[in-house]
Amino acid sequence: MNFVILGKPGAGKGSICEEFKKNNLIHLSTGDIFRREIASQSELGLLANSYIRKGNLVPDEVTNDIIKKILVENPNKDYIFDGYPRTINQAQALKKNMDDLGIELDAVINLIVDDDLVIERLSSRRVCKECGAIYNTRNHNPKVEGVCDKCGGEVITRADDKIEAIKERLNVYNNQTAPLIDYYIKEGLIMNVDGSLDTIDLYQVVMKNLNERKSLSSSNL
Ligand code: AMP
Repeated sequence: MNFVILGKPGAGKGSICEEFKKNNLIHLSTGDIFRREIASQSELGLLANSYIRKGNLVPDEVTNDIIKKILVENPNKDYIFDGYPRTINQAQALKKNMDDLGIELDAVINLIVDDDLVIERLSSRRVCKECGAIYNTRNHNPKVEGVCDKCGGEVITRADDKIEAIKERLNVYNNQTAPLIDYYIKEGLIMNVDGSLDTIDLYQVVMKNLNERKSLSSSNL
């Protein structure tokens, strides 16, 4: 099973992927890939950071090449694409790369949230610099302030979770990513889900929808 998680920044893509990882799906987050490159100060990291810290998208060619390389190296895994694709160009590149490798995209889960909730969630979000675990100052602080419960790494505010960057990311989402909803409706893949639900409820709703979809498609055989 391969699927895309689509939604505004702060819609809960990363949190629901933490649940999916328990099902042996490979979590492919372009944001996480870029953050690892930034931490290691690689050439790609420096390039990506010049876009990310302002809330802009890393150019399509760079992002598409990263995903293509991963798929070509491991075509037989089950992937959750988190934060990719983010533009029509990326969606077309993903389709071509998957078609070339004989891999099928099963669904696109579209998490729906309003802008106020995005701003509230992102401005209170904290992440572990080492393992990426997600916390928030409203109701999920690490046991020791600033220290990750899972790995002991430093818990920080992401540079792009500052208010100006959040607003820019919402603009970028509206202009460049939202058109993907129509694109995937036409492909018959979209599954709309209420992203304001808490993670466990959200995961259950998504799993129920995915299972219904699976049984529908097998009854059509
Ligand atoms: P995320 O963790 O998914 O919110 O991504 C953080 C930032 O990384 C985004 O605001 C973009 O600047 C960059 N980024 C992540 N995924 C992509 C992508 N598919 N295309 C271009 N830029 C991306």
